[in-house]
Amino acid sequence: MKFGGTSMAGIERIRSVAARVKREVEAGHEVAVVVSAMAGETDRLVGFCREASPLYDRAEYDVVVSAGEQVTSGLLAIALQAIGVPARSWLGWQLPVRTDDAHAKARIGAIDTAALDASLSAGEVAVIPGFQGVTDGGRSTTLGRGGSDTSAVAVAAAMRAERCDIYTDVDGVYTTDPRIVPRARKLAKVTYEEMLELASVGAKVLQTRSVGLAMKEGVRVQVLSSFTGAPDGEGAPMADTLPGTMIVGEEEVDDMERQLITGIAHDKNEAKITLTQVPDRPGAVASIFAPLADTGINVDMIIQNVAHIHDGATGSTDVTFTVPAADLARSLDVLEQGRAAIGYERMVHDTRVAKISVVGVGMRSHAGVAATMFTTLGARGINVQAISTSEIKVSVLIDEDETELAVRVLHTAYGLDAA
Ligand code: ADP
Ligand code: ASP
Ligand code: MG
Repeated sequence: MKFGGTSMAGIERIRSVAARVKREVEAGHEVAVVVSAMAGETDRLVGFCREASPLYDRAEYDVVVSAGEQVTSGLLAIALQAIGVPARSWLGWQLPVRTDDAHAKARIGAIDTAALDASLSAGEVAVIPGFQGVTDGGRSTTLGRGGSDTSAVAVAAAMRAERCDIYTDVDGVYTTDPRIVPRARKLAKVTYEEMLELASVGAKVLQTRSVGLAMKEGVRVQVLSSFTGAPDGEGAPMADTLPGTMIVGEEEVDDMERQLITGIAHDKNEAKITLTQVPDRPGAVASIFAPLADTGINVDMIIQNVAHIHDGATGSTDVTFTVPAADLARSLDVLEQGRAAIGYERMVHDTRVAKISVVGVGMRSHAGVAATMFTTLGARGINVQAISTSEIKVSVLIDEDETELAVRVLHTAYGLDAA
């Protein structure tokens, strides 16, 4: 069982979580629980780091931001004990959850389950703070924002759990964020592949890596609500009845259930950078993107315009691309330092952009998905600033203010609105 930030926000909610865990224990399950920090807490801690220094040391950032989960894991263990359920916390370094040393976005290598197995066999609920791990050198790491989902799937995989239930503040995965489009429809099943794509383009209901890991390890994942029934969970459907959305293999979804488009996602956490008049010569783009890659910054959408001849001299071109907004300051710093090597004229950036994506395995065999997207947005006067595609996805970059409108009109255009 994994409980997200809203589910853990305050002692009342944590008591409610404890009661829900107790119900599953009483139904005969051995339970490991992974918890997030209280809603808003990680943002607050990240804010302190930025305030202390915009170019903060990521290893120390990890020390700071992993603290939120330490608090909630201890509190849940206390709340469980208070209602007669034996429980104890296992911090990332205690299990341990081993990761590489890519601070702030570390990858889990292995989880030692000896202690966990013993704890569960002894009839104890193991409470594990999500998001955190430890390097071989003993330093704290975190798994990237939303990483508690990945912690949960990793624990489930390591323990060969029957299922990984991700409890959150919505009762499943919808055709789009139900907070933006009230007419979004809940999906009973989504394939790993589609969920992976949806998550990677901004459907933050599951962290992308958690879906990739579940797919690789064959973990059965369910997304469900921790807010159903009474505060103590009475009347809420038991997780075994699968009230939420199951993330499953392709073979478990039959053709009758297939739609051309599975879902639409948006992402406001990207920033656009444009370098003007980059010399049009071999190696020019490498001189931009290699240093960013070396700094661990993931570039997403890229557009390079055709070369123009300026003042009759050498050809040059504008290069526009997006990076995670959280990496903007660092990106600008890297590009400023590389200015002489790259040879650009000006560097401009814009954080008021949003990426809108439509996802569905059906588009492999259907033409016109992208055309529908451009036509629909064009008809509403929404300008497309950049485009990227994959086999099962089309993404566009637009003005952030038009996010909600774009998602809504596309949801209707692809026939996804609930009746
Ligand atoms: P938690 O704190 O439990 O991890 P998150 O805020 O990370 O919760 O994820 C849940 C949120 O994901 C929902 O409140 C919802 O607004 C958002 N969301 C975005 N896209 C979708 C979608 N397609 N289906 C369901 N929820 C979505
Ligand atoms: N607390 C972390 C975050 O807000 C991890 C998580 O909640 O999944 O990103
Ligand atoms: Mg989350």
